Parts: sequence; C-alpha cells; structure tokens
Amino acid sequence: MKVIRTQVGILGAGPAGLLLGQLLHRQGIDTVVVERQSRQHVETRIRAGVLEQGTADLLQRVGAGDRMLREGLRHHGIELRFLGQGHRIDFQELAGRAVTVYAQHEVIRDLIAARAAAGAPLFFDAGNTRITGLEDEPRIHFTNAGAPCEIACDYIAGCDGFHGISRTSIPPDALTIHEKVYPFGWLGILANARPASHELIYTHHKRGFALLSMRSPVVSRLYLQCAPDEDLEQWPDARIWEELQARFATRDGFRLEEGSITQKGVTAMRSFVAEPMRYHRLFLAGDAAHIVPPTGAKGLNLAAADVWLLSQAFADAYRTGGQDQLDRYSARALRRVWRVQQFSWWMTSLLHQGGGDAFDGRRQLAELDQVVNSRAAATLLAQNYTGLPFDEF
Ligand SMILES: Cc1cc2nc3c(=O)[nH]c(=O)nc-3n(C[C@H](O)[C@H](O)[C@H](O)COP(=O)(O)OP(=O)(O)OC[C@H]3O[C@@H](n4cnc5c(N)ncnc54)[C@H](O)[C@@H]3O)c2cc1C
Repeated sequence: MKVIRTQVGILGAGPAGLLLGQLLHRQGIDTVVVERQSRQHVETRIRAGVLEQGTADLLQRVGAGDRMLREGLRHHGIELRFLGQGHRIDFQELAGRAVTVYAQHEVIRDLIAARAAAGAPLFFDAGNTRITGLEDEPRIHFTNAGAPCEIACDYIAGCDGFHGISRTSIPPDALTIHEKVYPFGWLGILANARPASHELIYTHHKRGFALLSMRSPVVSRLYLQCAPDEDLEQWPDARIWEELQARFATRDGFRLEEGSITQKGVTAMRSFVAEPMRYHRLFLAGDAAHIVPPTGAKGLNLAAADVWLLSQAFADAYRTGGQDQLDRYSARALRRVWRVQQFSWWMTSLLHQGGGDAFDGRRQLAELDQVVNSRAAATLLAQNYTGLPFDEF
C-alpha cells in the first residue's frame, strides 16, 4: 500500500479543488488532489462560462489567468429582453465592474497546467475513493491503476461536487439540508454560429425563458427553458432553432444566426445548501456543499469564493497554529452562499414561466419594468451579477 503524506488532501479536480490547490501552493502549503475522472474528461466537460471579476482576479493571482486575459470576452453589461424589446443593464456604470466570458473547461485546463508547472501531485482516474478518520486522523483512500493508495493529511477539502463522497461521508445528523427543486430545466446547445449579440441576452417570454451566451466570437451557447426531464429525442436541430427564434424575437425583427449544433444537453435546476460546511477535519467547498440554479451564473464563482476563504483559513492555521479562522470558515462562507442563493432564486423566478399562473406572469413583467427603469433596482442586479467582493465576507 502506497501512503503519501501531505498537509491538505483535496478531493476533486473541479474549479474548487484546483483553485484551492493553487492558492495553498502559493502559501507554501502542500496538497495532493485526487480526482475520479480522467484528465481528458475534466478538461472537456462543458459547464459554466461567466467569471465574476473576483474569480478572474483570483485566476490571475495564482498564475492561471494569462490565457483568460487573452481569449476571454470582457462584458460590461447584459440585456434583459421582454415583451419583444431589449433593455441593457450597464454593469460598468452601475457597479464599476465587468464579467469575463471564458468556458469552465478552459479554466480547468489552465489550472491543471499551473499545477503541473508547480510539480504538485494530482491523481486522475482514482477508483473507490473513501475518506476516513475525519475526527482526528484524516485519510483519503483510493486505487491508482488498480493499486491501493492512501493520502494521510491534516485536513481534507471536500471539493468533489454535488455527487461526490465528501458530503455523504458526514453523519446525516451533523448536517442540515435545505433544498428547492424547480419544475423546469434548461436545454442547452453549443452551435457553430456567430453570437447575434456581443453580450448575454436574458429573455422573458410566454413560451419560456431563453438565454443567449457565447464561447467565442464564432461559437454560440444558447439555452431554452424546458421540462426537467425533457426528452432530447423530441428536439431535432430544426425545432431548437425555431423555438429559439420565437423566444428571442423582437418587434424590430431580431434574428439569431443559425449553425451546426455540436452539443446538446438538459440540466435540471435546484437550489441546495448543506450546513455547516465543516465536519471536524473535513471542509466542504463548492458544489459539494451547495448548488444554485444557473440563471445568475454563480456556481463556479461561488466555488471560487469558498476556496478563497478556505485557503486563508488554512494559511492562518499553519502560520499561527490557531484554529480561529478555520472555526469561522463555515459561517463566513454560508453568509455569502445564502446571499448568492437569494440572487440566483430571484433571477430564476423573475424570468421563468412557472406553470401558467397569470398573476405570476404579470408580476414578473412589473418587476422587469422596475429593474430596467429604476436605477436602484438595476444597480442591485449589476452588483450581484458581477459579484459581491470576496473580501466583504
Ligand atoms: C451541465 C452543467 C451546466 C452548468 N452551467 C453553469 C453555468 O452556466 N453557470 C454557472 O455558474 N454554473 C454552471 N454550472 C455549475 C458549475 O459548473 C459548478 O457550480 C462548478 O463546476 C462547481 O465547481 P466544483 O469544483 O465545486 O464542483 P465540480 O465542478 O463538480 O467538480 C467536482 C470534481 O470532483 C470529482 N469527483 C466527484 N466525486 C469524486 C470522488 N468520489 N473522488 C474524487 N473526485 C470526485 C468530479 O469528477 C469533479 O471533477 C453547471 C453545472 C452543470 C453540471
């Protein structure tokens, strides 16, 4: 049995685990990352794409931001579209900040490259992962090419996403779970088509919500509200384009540019929080502890905010020998988590059709009217969308 000794064992090579590894490396703290999937899998997994200013700054700070600076698309606003008309929310003017559109799998590639350059260990294709000794002597057990391995560490960072083993290794009576499942999902496509707008368009429509996003000046990422268990077989490409054109239509004849669809998928939507985000020597971060519906583009950003706090707490513990910051980690992280949960729920309930209630439809339109005509309401949206400052929590 191979036993590797490190300071912090990290489960999961998603944004949370990899960013935490880099932040700790820069503080001189040793880590080992253990990932269930292959490198190829994690580097091509299509997911989020909007980075808050704070997340983009962190990537630069850990030496993984050069390509993002070159290739990322800097956005200074979004459009809210309803009743066939667009209304721009100007982030720069309202919040003095911007977001960067840069795909999550590109972030992962850059973080893996930075970790490799630092010579820090990362095990892909780990089998049968288990964690033990959470109260006093934490261990990560896994198989590496069939051979049993063990990571002996001071702490474990559970960064293994919603379906990982970290959260479920905590005794159920030590956690409180809050969950809200929405009666709809998103059908998302990637298409070789020039985006019809250089900024994101969030559309409220009686046929359902739609979002125009992009991955590059020639690749569109588009979403349609659908049933959470929508059957993709019922959605040939022609039907998808027809539905998208209907939902994005404006009174002045807006048309999406169409192109070949290279990827299709359905994502169900939920809000989920497990608290506290700590069990003795196990600290949860990112999707392992919470899920937001994707409407506010917050999942990846919230993972980054968690690990920023956690890295400071670990650094303080190793520097001072004290546990104060580690003891405060969960409460500090959860304060932001709940603010972001509120914002993501608000944007979701503002824009989606929730089951045909006419009162609700009129209420949404009144609220949209308020957001685009009240500077105070628009500022709140701009501040939350571009991200609450990491140091505020
Ligand atoms: C289809 C999809 C689309 C999304 N779109 C958006 C979006 O548009 N905007 C947005 O902000 N967010 C979006 N999200 C959410 C965002 O991608 C996540 O919030 C973000 O990836 C969280 O990062 P994480 O590191 O916490 O978790 P993850 O990215 O899930 O990473 C966890 C890692 O742990 C690994 N792992 C799991 N179990 C184990 C184990 N037992 N042992 C070792 N490793 C393990 C996983 O393979 C994975 O690599 C989307 C998510 C999905 C699934």
